[in-house]
Amino acid sequence: MSESTVAAASGPSLDDNGKNGLWLICKRCGSKIVEPGVALFVDQERRLPAMEKKAGIELSADGEALSSYFKLTDMMQFENVGFTLPHQGRKFLICADCEIGPIGVVELDSPSEFWVALDRVVADASGAAAAKARPQFSS
Ligand SMILES: [Zn+2]
Repeated sequence: MSESTVAAASGPSLDDNGKNGLWLICKRCGSKIVEPGVALFVDQERRLPAMEKKAGIELSADGEALSSYFKLTDMMQFENVGFTLPHQGRKFLICADCEIGPIGVVELDSPSEFWVALDRVVADASGAAAAKARPQFSS
């Protein structure tokens, strides 16, 4: 990266590496989706169907253009996530617990790029809003 002109004064909280500084959690149920420091913030427009339950996602293919995403490069980087069936060359990311979505998208041409829309999740400092227990770390 040669320069950084993005001050992100009103943008998401990022760490020194440009990755999410906060937990990303489900807006509806508080399920933890991505832990801090994992996903790179990318300003790149993609269209997502409107938020709704999994069963209705295919019915609202128009959706809205969103331009703020956290990009992950390995499914194992997620704490919890679910996927829809492939639809028009894409799979959508949904909450693993309550199945609300799409919270993001995977394009089948680039199956190792997982795009989580900033507007579709909640950033939370402690993950305290999450109902899940913290994962146990071996020492
Ligand atoms: Zn949820």
